[in-house]
Amino acid sequence: MRIRVDELPESGKTLVWSWDERQLARFQPEQDPVHIGLNRPIEVDLEVHREADHVRVAGSIRVAARLVCDRCLEDYPWELDQPFETVLLPGSGQPGEDERELSESELDYEFFDGEVIDLEQLVAEEILLALPLQSLCSDECRGLCPGCGANRNRQACRCAAAAGAEAFQNLAIIRKQLPEK
Ligand SMILES: [Zn+2]
Ligand SMILES: [Zn+2]
Repeated sequence: MRIRVDELPESGKTLVWSWDERQLARFQPEQDPVHIGLNRPIEVDLEVHREADHVRVAGSIRVAARLVCDRCLEDYPWELDQPFETVLLPGSGQPGEDERELSESELDYEFFDGEVIDLEQLVAEEILLALPLQSLCSDECRGLCPGCGANRNRQACRCAAAAGAEAFQNLAIIRKQLPEK
């Protein structure tokens, strides 16, 4: 969904679309192994306005996804439902470019070539950047046992039981070796 800035009507433009998993996956880097399963299609609702020397994009992105936990490898629900607002400035964003007042503000801003805005790319970046850096089903996730592979959130690890039994046996051996009174 690319739009030419000079074709934007004075009153702005509303864009609504949805994405399925495959459509979102097009924007993921090829070597990125993160699988984002969707519980329902992503809903995007944007308003694009041209203002003075910049373009403002605002709206909402709703994602109901399933991510895989890094520790236990189970999937868990992850949602994104937030208002979205970005100011697009013509230019390259290279250092040395004249400082603009907008860069001082809290507002999210990006640069574009001054002619064409790729809204799909913008939305995809917003979603991919919102993904958790560490994907965990919960902060307390106890993960898989490296020994037996048990999901320690749900079952007692067999290694711990085995290690306990071994310690108990060692104790019995030591006891036998102790001189009797
Ligand atoms: Zn987990
Ligand atoms: Zn184990």
